[in-house]
Amino acid sequence: MRKAFRKIVAFILCIAMTAIPFSALSVFRANAAEPIVVVIDPGHGGSNLGTDYLPIPEKTYTMTVALHMKEQLEKYQNVRVYLTHTEDIDMSLKERAEFASKVNADFLFSLHFNMSISHSLYGSEVWVPSTGQLYSQGYSAANEFLTQFEEMGLFNRGIKTRIGSNGKSDYYGIIRESALRNIPAVIVEHCHVDNINDTPYIQSPEKLKEFGVRDAEAVARYFGLVSKDGKTDYSSYAPLAVPVPSSRVCNDTTAPSYVSANLLKYDQTGKYATVELTAMDAESAIQYYSYSYDNGITWSALQPWAKGSPTVTVSVSMGYGKKDTMIFKAYNLYDISTESNVVQLH
Ligand SMILES: [Zn+2]
Repeated sequence: MRKAFRKIVAFILCIAMTAIPFSALSVFRANAAEPIVVVIDPGHGGSNLGTDYLPIPEKTYTMTVALHMKEQLEKYQNVRVYLTHTEDIDMSLKERAEFASKVNADFLFSLHFNMSISHSLYGSEVWVPSTGQLYSQGYSAANEFLTQFEEMGLFNRGIKTRIGSNGKSDYYGIIRESALRNIPAVIVEHCHVDNINDTPYIQSPEKLKEFGVRDAEAVARYFGLVSKDGKTDYSSYAPLAVPVPSSRVCNDTTAPSYVSANLLKYDQTGKYATVELTAMDAESAIQYYSYSYDNGITWSALQPWAKGSPTVTVSVSMGYGKKDTMIFKAYNLYDISTESNVVQLH
C-alpha cells in the first residue's frame, strides 16, 4: 500500500516525464561568425581518484580520454577546446564550472568511468540537466555519445536526470554548478570498469584513444562541425531535436510496477527453458532482467532486455542439476528491480 502511494506521488511530481507540454525545439548549430567553445572536464584528479576498483584509478582514464578528445576535436574548424585541468590536481566541481563560465563555454562535457557496488551493471550512460533548454541540449548531445558507444558494441544504459533530495536542483554538482551559470553540462559515463562485459574497452591505449575519438565525433556531430581538411562535414547533419520541457524532468525513483513470467516450453532432459516475460514501468524503460533457480538466493548476470518492448521471450540455460523453480527480476533505467511470480518447472 505504502509503495503504491509513493509510486503515485512520484508519478504526480514527475508528470513532466510523460506528459510534457513542449514549448520549443532546441538545437544548437555552429555558426561561422563565432567559434564554438567546448570545455572538456576530465573527471576527478589529485587526491580525488574516482573509481579505484582497478589498479589504475578513474582519474587516469578520464585524463587520457580527454587529451585524445581534445586532439581530435581540434581537427575541426571554428572550435575552441579547453580542458578544465591538464595537471593531476584537486579541483572542485564549482571551480570546473567557473572555468567553463570564464572561457564562455557553449558546453561542458565531464568525462567519467563507472562501477557499481554489486559489480553487475555494464554499459554506457549520460547524465543530463533536468530543466529547460539545458535539458534539451544535454539530451541531444547525450544521444550522440550513446550512438557512438553503441557502435563500439557497448550496452546503452540511457540518458538520465537525477534530482537532489531537496527536489529543486540537479543532484550532480558539475551539472548543478554549470546550470547556475547557464552552461549545458553532461556527465559521460563511458563504461563500467568492474564488469567483464566492459573491461575489454579499457584494456589498451588504443581502446582509450577510441573513446576520445568517439567523444569528439559526438561533439562534432552535435555542433555540425566541418574538419579543417574539409573531408568531414557535419554542417547538414541533424542531431536529435529535443523539445524544451515546461517543468523539471525527474528521475524514476520507484521499481517496475509489474513483472510476470510465463513458462512456454520446458524439457527436463533438455538444456533450456523458454519463458515469456512481461514488465511494466510507467516512468522509465526496462533495461535488464536476471533469473534465479534457488528462490532468489543467487541470481544470474544481468541480461539485456529488448528496449521499448513490454514483453520479451527468453531462452534460459538450465545448466547442470535438476531445477524445480525459476524466478525473474526486471530492472528499469535506474536499476531498480521487481521480482516476478515463481515459475514451476515440470
Ligand atoms: Zn567519475
